Amino acid sequence: MNIAPPPLPNTKNLVWADAHSHLQDPRLAPHLPQVFARARAAGLALLHVDATSEADWPAVAALAGAHPGLVICSFGLHPWFIRNRSSRWRENLRELLATRPAGIGEIGLDARMADDLDADREAVFLAQLDLSCELALPASLHCRDAWPRMLDILLNRPPHPAGLLIHAYSGPADALPALAAKNVHVSFGGTLTRPKNARARENAAKVPAGHFLLESDAPDLPPTLPVGRTPHLAGGDGQILSEPAYIPQTGQLLAHLRGTTALDIAAQTTANARRLFAKLLT
Ligand SMILES: [Zn+2]
Repeated sequence: MNIAPPPLPNTKNLVWADAHSHLQDPRLAPHLPQVFARARAAGLALLHVDATSEADWPAVAALAGAHPGLVICSFGLHPWFIRNRSSRWRENLRELLATRPAGIGEIGLDARMADDLDADREAVFLAQLDLSCELALPASLHCRDAWPRMLDILLNRPPHPAGLLIHAYSGPADALPALAAKNVHVSFGGTLTRPKNARARENAAKVPAGHFLLESDAPDLPPTLPVGRTPHLAGGDGQILSEPAYIPQTGQLLAHLRGTTALDIAAQTTANARRLFAKLLT
């Protein structure tokens, strides 16, 4: 399949939302003014920043505080970083959520971790998922190689009261309608643009309206850039660093896959983000 969308009229006047990023990541710190400038120039009007561990909660809170109306945030324990959680992590999370508008994230399951923490990982995920239901806050989910268990959990619970977002969704396409019925949304980012990722493109075409968003996952999961386009940032290992300014490129591809216009996709994904994250905006 040719995944390159036809050149579209410029997307300069469109308004986009980044549903999932880690702008607190130290790799981006020296470049943040330029990252924000490029995001604004690309039409990004909303940036959702997800924490990963207690250690980065203050940096995430500071970003939201420094960019009111643009940056919204979630706090939680990412499945990669549960080993160093404090004994008070639950209380710390609850207390932080009481101080400011925020969601819960990034949380989830990852069966590719070569460690002895799988049981802990699921318990930490479920505790945070339960907290998001209790507080009626949206939660942002990570899932890698754990789809049977994740779907078993999500599809056997009542619809989430505030909504869930599975970022970089790589699960089965046929689960998408059932997930939507449980108030679960999915977001697509740089992996959608990878030539070999036919599954993501099938998912992008099939996800029910009202339940998809766009994400950068900055600084990870960068898009495959069109030939000749110079990346904005590269990490120490030479890898391209993802950033919100790439969202319109992913949005153009999503429009192509869904047989619609970039204008329509920008409007839909931004409206979906504003609705899902409404409690984070107040
Ligand atoms: Zn992430």
